[in-house]
Amino acid sequence: MKNSFQDKVALITGATSGIGAATAKTLAARSAKVIVSGRRQPEGQAVVKAIQAAGGSAAFCKADTSKEADVQALVAFTLKTFGRLDYAFNNAGIEGVAGLTTDKQTEENYRQTFDINVLGVLLSMKHEIPAMLKNGGGAIVNTSSVAGHIGMGGVGVYVASKHAVEGLTKSAALEFSKQGVRVNAVAPAAIQTDMMDRFIGESKTNNPQRDWLTNAHPIGRIGTTDEVALAVISLFENPFITGTSLAVDGGFMAQ
Ligand code: NAD
Repeated sequence: MKNSFQDKVALITGATSGIGAATAKTLAARSAKVIVSGRRQPEGQAVVKAIQAAGGSAAFCKADTSKEADVQALVAFTLKTFGRLDYAFNNAGIEGVAGLTTDKQTEENYRQTFDINVLGVLLSMKHEIPAMLKNGGGAIVNTSSVAGHIGMGGVGVYVASKHAVEGLTKSAALEFSKQGVRVNAVAPAAIQTDMMDRFIGESKTNNPQRDWLTNAHPIGRIGTTDEVALAVISLFENPFITGTSLAVDGGFMAQ
């Protein structure tokens, strides 16, 4: 199990922090060669260094997933550096502007959020799938959210962007399953990352917003990045799962 990704190559977007960085480290610990990608070079290099210090194999490639030329260059860099592409975790995303009800939404928030969360995932799959087909197939996981399944007041644009990720995931799965490319999504509820701190504030004590969110999860706590990484790995590994969205949510959506 430990070396289940031996000789395999995985590309991760938004891997300079949070869920992406944790998944990069988990995959490398299971012997995958990992391309760590993101917009922030120093943070990305730090993730690569941590992987290498633990005996793993990784390289950083700077890329903004909302720009097609960057995504094309990222996939080319992957093939040049490690010779193939087996797994991709399209995880880059932003929360957009929180607290805007529908009557207050802005074109700018919509365009920025959809450019990264939706177009970024679409462009990533567009260029990853042909690279995977070169070696007989592969598996993709896109980062959705519980917000890809339910409505949430004040973040309608983010919610809509994650619903779109769900749609792109299912459609790509139908298109390429016969050719050996599986496509799934993970749908986390609240996970402790920089994004979560921006949402509810960094303070872990005397923080009513954090208390409210914690209690909204039947399991009684916010999730960890490693728990999402384990879900991504299980979707990569299971050959009969495609076109689905796996909730990593402490029971949030069962309510
Ligand atoms: P994060 O802010 O630590 O990670 C997001 C990463 O994406 C960052 O490294 C950021 O620099 C990168 N990124 C943003 N725009 C990019 C772009 N255009 N090109 C390349 N990289 C870009 O937060 P996180 O919580 O780890 O978020 C990762 C994903 O998980 C996001 O898609 C987010 O929507 C999703 N998510 C997070 C939570 C949560 O509670 N933290 C819950 C559900 C879904």
